[in-house]
Order: sequence, then structure tokens, then C-alpha cells
Amino acid sequence: MTRFLFSLILLVSISVSAQQLKSPSEFLGYELGTQFTRHHEVVDYYEYLAESAPDRVQLTIYGKTNERRPLILAYVSSAENLANLETIRKEHLKDTEGTGNTSKAIVWLSYNVHGNESVSTEASMKTIYELLTKKSSYLENTVVIMDPCINPDGRDRYSNWYNQYKNTPYQVDPNSKEHNEGWWSGRSNHYMFDLNRDWAWLTQVESQQRLKMFNQWLPHIHVDFHEQGMNNPYYFAPAAEPYHEVITDFQRDFQVTLGRNHAKYFDANGWFYFTKEVFDLLYPSYGDTYPIYNGSIGMTYEQGGSGRAGLGVITAIGDTLTLKDRIAHHFTTGLSTVEVSSQNAQKLNEEFRKFHQNKEFKYQSYVLKGDRDKLDALKSLLDKHNIAYGNLSSGSYRGHSYKTGENGSLSINKNGMVVSTDQPKGTLVKVLFEPNAKLSDSLTYDITAWSLPYAYGLDAVASTSSVSAQNVQETTTSYNINNGSYAYLTDWNSMDDARFLAALLNEGIRVRKADHPFSIEGKSFERGTLIITKGDNENKDDFTQTLQTITAKFEKEIIPTSTGFVDTGKDFGSSAIQMVTKPKVAVLSGGPTSTLRFGEIWHFFEQQLHYPLTVIDDEYANRVDLNEYNILVLPDGRYGNHFNEDQLSKLKDWVRQGGKIIAMGGSIDALDGEKGFGIEKKKMVKDTSDNTPQPYKDWERERIKGAITGAIFKTKVDNSNPLAYGYGSDYFSLKLGSSAYAYLNNGNAVYLGQNTEPFSGFAGTEAQKRISETLVFGVESYGRGQVIYMVDNPLFRGFWENGKLFFANALFMVD
Ligand SMILES: [Zn+2]
Repeated sequence: MTRFLFSLILLVSISVSAQQLKSPSEFLGYELGTQFTRHHEVVDYYEYLAESAPDRVQLTIYGKTNERRPLILAYVSSAENLANLETIRKEHLKDTEGTGNTSKAIVWLSYNVHGNESVSTEASMKTIYELLTKKSSYLENTVVIMDPCINPDGRDRYSNWYNQYKNTPYQVDPNSKEHNEGWWSGRSNHYMFDLNRDWAWLTQVESQQRLKMFNQWLPHIHVDFHEQGMNNPYYFAPAAEPYHEVITDFQRDFQVTLGRNHAKYFDANGWFYFTKEVFDLLYPSYGDTYPIYNGSIGMTYEQGGSGRAGLGVITAIGDTLTLKDRIAHHFTTGLSTVEVSSQNAQKLNEEFRKFHQNKEFKYQSYVLKGDRDKLDALKSLLDKHNIAYGNLSSGSYRGHSYKTGENGSLSINKNGMVVSTDQPKGTLVKVLFEPNAKLSDSLTYDITAWSLPYAYGLDAVASTSSVSAQNVQETTTSYNINNGSYAYLTDWNSMDDARFLAALLNEGIRVRKADHPFSIEGKSFERGTLIITKGDNENKDDFTQTLQTITAKFEKEIIPTSTGFVDTGKDFGSSAIQMVTKPKVAVLSGGPTSTLRFGEIWHFFEQQLHYPLTVIDDEYANRVDLNEYNILVLPDGRYGNHFNEDQLSKLKDWVRQGGKIIAMGGSIDALDGEKGFGIEKKKMVKDTSDNTPQPYKDWERERIKGAITGAIFKTKVDNSNPLAYGYGSDYFSLKLGSSAYAYLNNGNAVYLGQNTEPFSGFAGTEAQKRISETLVFGVESYGRGQVIYMVDNPLFRGFWENGKLFFANALFMVD
């Protein structure tokens, strides 16, 4: 930032006139669209514009990526507006309270969230140049905020790869290597997360930093520029059904206004496009829906191309699609968006004000209670969204009960909180908390359920009346660590506890775990309780100090005992009180694994648990000696019969000798059936009661009967199984598909009973039958080792907070 301020002062006197501004082609030294511009060159161009026209362009570096690339925003407007930028921003934000006084339109253009949808960033440079030159009249009443690249790590991964593999001159034959990226594609960010699924969950550094800026502005319009399959025509607003019910008539109508203006330009050029199909508005974590739930007109624009198209490619109908064509299309919709916004600035301001008033939602307050760690995890997410909440320490509250799916009550005597819709972020509160999102159609692009009380494992009621917060004195825990204690005990029921254990193990502290409930010195403890004894750590000189430091860092309450003699259960010296192994973990990547599912595991270890892992690529996995590892994680993917007999017998030997496999999702297929492990796909008996042939036109409707596109189910938990330590007797699982496996002979830690109606979200009737009485998470003992099956994915997009302890149990508790 300092650097820019300095440049600003220096350059005010030498600001060049519009005519002298260099176009992207002039600045870069090649015609735009004939090369992929690397991210640092893009930043150079934006810096050049800010230095050359400082009265009309301001840059902010709002953060950096995992690979240390800068994240930048450019504010583009008339000199008068930019001089008053802070006043405009503040007045605009006052509109969320209905009191603002500005008539400027705020348009936010986001480019290249998917790194290999690489045309966007190129188009952004042409767009900003045009706004500063020929189309500067739009800027008189409009502030345009441009993020030229939301995902620089992914984009550079793609453009560097392309530059390495492209033919010279480029080869339009789609079979050539330059059109086939392979497993490690540039779509996602460093950790292989899809940033266009992360706006609501904010698990990634790019999203976290961007949202701080977004919340400072809450623009009237937000466009997320994408690319889709290379054979598709261009897609722009209006979006497809289903729309979430909170989307206002104006938000619907204005998408049509914008779409019609884009169509005018596309028609004049004879370009193809489609609207109202495929891209719906429901799942709240996209670059279109999230802004919509914050009062914007949020939209996705999709060019055909993605990582396949390169600089030029022959499409299915025999046309050549070039990068220049792709730039022209995104450039056209970008400018058309600013044009329409400028023409409707007054209306946009009025409607933005209206959006934030008169929220008459059925549920006015969401009342929650639960474990302190879990409440804190939720509060930390709400803080990032500027969502207000209050504490509750007593009372009984009636409403829709999340636990039963019916009306009921929730009584609180400590650790409660309330989140109400009567606040500027009220619509977002409704969308994130409501028990069941109302769809206007069941065909959707993504998951249909995400309700936060389920995701965070909290008891909750949705109340139709307004609940006021109470003034609760937060008590701080004190830590009693002194040399005189025989042992220290601490509970095990949250991700924070898992992080605490990982930190102890990383520091070389030895920890035991309780496999049976026990009581000592008048207190009771559950399975999974961590037992840290002085005797186990005698050889560690700085034991007390290290334990003290880690305990303070995690604000962990640990209870000292003066003895190992229990009142009930097993004494700490008993052979039943096992040491927690400090596992050496390997994770398979590449080959059959899904990049996204692999990335979730990678991110979980490094950024959530803070525990080391070794990534082994499928290409050389055969040559790796598995005996160096305790645990092998197989991420979800398309395995089929991926492991040959030789590999399977190696795996089996390793497990027999004490190895542990964590098999997730599709990797279970590589182990099931004839392959020697005990898991079996559930066999379905075909229902032959109605054999009437279905009309062809209904095939899509018929197909979804067998589908689950992300719905929440209430499952049963055997919490005496180490895989389920720390959980209660039921668990709400986010099910992402209808793959179903029969119960194990024993070791069914989490499973579905007969009733498989979803608590939230959509599940087809056939799919519900298929998943009835099937396994969710289980452990098969095999020789001296185990295979842990995870049919559902507790790490999905990093947001299902309450599932993560299952994964930690798989690492540390199952043995
Ligand atoms: Zn995309």
C-alpha cells in the first residue's frame, strides 16, 4: 500500500491525459489475445494505469495468495468520484439502514475465479482501458471496482503450463497436449479448492481477504466472469431456476434488463448466447448468489473455452474459437453491465435501500446451544460475514426444532446464542440458518442443503418471534499445570480438541486416550478423553512448560489429577489405557483421485489440523514402501478396479501388519466386493410394480428420482466406536450422492436406519430407498490393522465443521 501512496504523490503532477494511456497491447508488447499474460504482468499493467491516471484509478493490494501472489482491486471512476470515494462508500453503506444519500451506482467485476478459465483476466485489461478512454462517460455516476484475478495461483498454474506445452504457432487440433491439462488443472486455488464454492464458508485465504473488501462496499452489481465447455455458446443473465425464494422481484427483473442489453450487442455481431438455463441461484456460496443475498444483482457470465481452448481450438461444429473471440465477448458483457448500471443508478440505489428494509421472514430468530468450541467456531464464521449475534445463558425457547424436524423447545442453562434476521445481513442469516431452503424447482446445479446448525453440530430452534440476547459474562478458564500433578485430563469433542492433540504430538508430548468412560476425584469423563501423564513424559525436560504453552494457545481447559487411581473405570496405568500413536500419514494424489477431494484433505492437514502429511502421487505410488507410514488416505475419486491384484495384495499385507487405510467415497469401490475387504455395495431389488414406459420428454425428471444432490440426513451413531468418540447418539450428515454400502459385520460407527427422508434438501424417491439401512462411517478390523470407510465426506468444501472430528478420530483414536 505504501508503495502506491508514494507513487500517487510522485505522479499527480505528471498524470497523462486519456489519449496517452497505453492500451494493454501497447503496454504488454504483444497484441492482447495472442499470448496468455502472466499474473505479475497483469499487476504491472494495473499499476501502470494507477500511476498514469491516479485521479481515475486507485489500486489496493488486499492480500496475498498461498503462493504469495498479490490480490488487487482497482477502483475506477471519474476524478470527482474518486476524490470522494470514501464518502460515497459510507453513504452507500448507510443504505443498509435506509439512511444513505448517494446516487452513484457501484459495480464490482470479478475475473478469473477459476484459474484455467483464463480469458477473464485478459478481458479485464481491455475493459478497464475502455472505461478510462472511450467509455469514460459511464463513470460519471458509477464506481467500478475491478478484481482482475481472484485466483492468481490457479491462473498462473494454467498459463505457465500452457506456455510450456503449446505448439508454435498454436495448434487448433483439440487432441494436442496444449488442450489437455490433466489432473493438476488450474481451475482451483493452491489447495485445490473451488473458490466459486467458498464465498459463504470462507475456508480459503483468497475468499477471506476478498470478503473483507466486499463487505466494505456491498455493490449494487456483482459479475463473476467464468468459462464453460468450449463448445458452448456464451451464457449471461437472467439465470436459470431454481431461484431461492428470498430473491426479490427487482433482482429478478434487473437481470433481464441487463441480459437484454447484452443480447443487443451479441445480436449485432451475430454471436450465439443462451440465458435462463443451467446456472441456477440457490447454493449460497457462489459469486452470484452470495452477493444476491447481500442485496446485489449477482450474476455469472460464461464464455465457452476453459482450460481446453488455449489460444485457438477447433470446436465440435468445426469453427475456430480463439482467445481473441473469447476476450471480445467478456469485454462486451462487462461494458454493457457498466452501461446499464450507469443508466439505472438512481433505481439501483432505491432498490438496494428497499432490499434492506421490511424483512418479513417466517423465522425471526435462530436460537442455538452446544459445546463452547462449536459455538466459537460458528461465531468466528459469523464475524467474517459481519453477521451480528448475541449470547444466551438461560431460558426455554420454542420453535422449529432442528433435532426432530418438528415444533419443539430448546432449554438453555449455559452456552447459548441467538442470531436474528432483523439486521442488515438478515437475508443472509435466513439463507444460511433456515432449516430447509425452499426451492422453486428441484433440478439444481449443486447441493440443496447447508443449514449452519447442522453443519456446526449445534442444537437449535428457529423461532417465529424475536428473541433478545442476554448480557452474559464470559467466564475464562484457568489452567492448573504444576509439577505436582500425576496426570492432566481433557475432553475430546471438537476440532479444537483435535488441533490441541496434534500440537501436543508435534511437540513430542506423549498422550493416552480413554477407551472407556471413567471417573476420578469426583469428576466423570467420556470415551476419547486425553490423558497426559507425568510418567509418560519424564524424559521430556520442558514437559510442564510446553504443556502450559500449548494449553494457553488453544485456551484449553485441562484438569489435573493427583493420582492415577480411578473411582470407576480403568486406572491410568492399566494396559487398557492406550497411548495415542503419532501417525505418519500418506495421502494418495493424482491418478484416480479427484483434485477437489484430494485438496480438501491436503488443506485439512496443513491449514486446519496443522499436522504433517506426505503426498504420494499415483504415478510412483507403486515404488513407495508403505511400511514407512501408519496411515494411507485414499481420497474420493473414480477408482473402479484401479488397483491390480498385485497392488491389492500389497495393501492387504500392509493392513494385516497394522496399517490403516482411510477410504473415502469412490475409493471404497477399489476395495469392495471380490477384492478381499469386507465392504459390499448395497444390492437393489428392482421395483417391478409399475412397468409403464416413461415418455422421453420426462427423462430428466425421472433421472433425478435416483439422485441426491447434497441433502442432510439424520444418522445413528455408535459412540462407543473409536471412530465416533466425542459425538452424541445421532449425527446430521451431508450426503452428496446415492452410493450405498451395506452395514459391516461389525464396526458400524455411523449409519442410516430405515427412515431416510432428508431433514433438509432434495433426495429423489429411488435414492431414498437405496440408502436405507446403509453405512455412513465404519471401521473394519483386518489383521492387526483397520480399514476406515467414509461413504459421506466430512471434509466436503471444508465447511461441515461437525464432521471433521470423525476424520480426526480416524487418525488418532481408531487403533
Ligand atoms: Zn468457472
